[in-house]
Amino acid sequence: MDSIQAFMSRVISRNPGENEFHQAVHEVAETIIPFAETRPVYKKAKILERIVEPERVIIFRVPWMTDQGEIEVNRGYRVQMNSAIGPYKGGLRFHPSVNMSTLKFLAFEQIFKNSLTQLPMGGGKGGADFDPKGKSDREVMMFCQSFMTELFRHISSDNDIPAGDIGVGAREIGYLFGQYKRLKNEFTGVLTGKGASYGGSLIRPEATGYGVVYFVEQMLKLRKSSIKGKTIVISGSGNVAQYTLEKCLELGAKVVTLSDSGGYIYDEKGIDAEKFAYIMHLKNESRGRIKSYADKFGCTYVEGKRPWEVPCDIALPNATQNELNEEDAKLLIKNGCMCVAEGANMPCTPEAIAVFENNDILYSPGKAANAGGVAVSGLEMSQNSLRLSWSREEVDHKLQEIMFNIHATCTKYGYKPDGRLSYVQGANIGGFVRVADAMLAQGIV
Ligand code: GLU
Repeated sequence: MDSIQAFMSRVISRNPGENEFHQAVHEVAETIIPFAETRPVYKKAKILERIVEPERVIIFRVPWMTDQGEIEVNRGYRVQMNSAIGPYKGGLRFHPSVNMSTLKFLAFEQIFKNSLTQLPMGGGKGGADFDPKGKSDREVMMFCQSFMTELFRHISSDNDIPAGDIGVGAREIGYLFGQYKRLKNEFTGVLTGKGASYGGSLIRPEATGYGVVYFVEQMLKLRKSSIKGKTIVISGSGNVAQYTLEKCLELGAKVVTLSDSGGYIYDEKGIDAEKFAYIMHLKNESRGRIKSYADKFGCTYVEGKRPWEVPCDIALPNATQNELNEEDAKLLIKNGCMCVAEGANMPCTPEAIAVFENNDILYSPGKAANAGGVAVSGLEMSQNSLRLSWSREEVDHKLQEIMFNIHATCTKYGYKPDGRLSYVQGANIGGFVRVADAMLAQGIV
């Protein structure tokens, strides 16, 4: 459509070189521009033109010192994308690939994801081009303290609430929270993903992974199927992959792969509870490489590749953006895959998504399938404000309900005129409407 092209060329010329951001915006524009034709009020108010412009971007220097006494300098960011329906909310990513493009794509996706949860959270994202891999605990603490020494003046529990993402887990959140509290002299819920002993919510560590599996169960229901007995290929081995795996095991599926930046392991017999405990220790305590799993349990390790060549019923890309391309998508389908749900943010390329949708594969974008993490972050904020904490069962129940409702929203807005269901369309429109209505109500802001 002409108007999509015109809109995109403006976005591209205003944000030169930000390819990931262009990709995320294009995916939304493709569904929202035709939808806005049916709701002229959105078109007239230029909601889409406004929503792609961050409300505020903060870029700052993060100097710190290594254990050897060398001075290092990293670049820190916070993208405050949209606060129409609540304070900015979204994770921090520490990874060498972090730049303006990555964070704007993530903050943009976060707007729709957070809206889909129905909780009062706007969209934001931040991070730094710091690589925690191979750093000592002390170096990570030094970095986090320096990072927060600037960030603290731009965030608060009522205006912007960061959390974790790639490279930012319980350890980093602890150091960041400690420094914020010291600088502000306030104990508030300014970060989520905190430890249970200092205001964290139960089930928050598990939430993204569990949520993905709850969502997949809903998708499979549409085909009168369930996760039990299915063979599942997972990429990644961080927080999302770990708890996706745990929930898959609990529900009787067979998970045969995990990966990291070095390669993937293929355990034909399936990863069981004992092997899962090993992975948790390997990745969260000794911070080692997934290859050690293959050495210990005597299974296949494929260096430098992703697991999409392994036959499966369900594929769950849980590692990072653009990790699954068109060829991978075709290979998955050829090998019998019938369902793909994104635990990571934007792991499938646009070409791969087209292959899935054109072949009637159940495919869900991350902004719907992985919203469980930020949803429980929202519940953590509520508990912090109430100054109480809910039980595991309570939080898990609310998480299941939220994932069920997100799926229902996708089916409400996702059907195409030919009767096919597009989760991309459903998630984009479902997420957009709530934010757009709030922006309309608040005038030209
Ligand atoms: N980084 C996660 C995401 O991509 C969680 C964000 C949060 O809990 O604020 O949604």
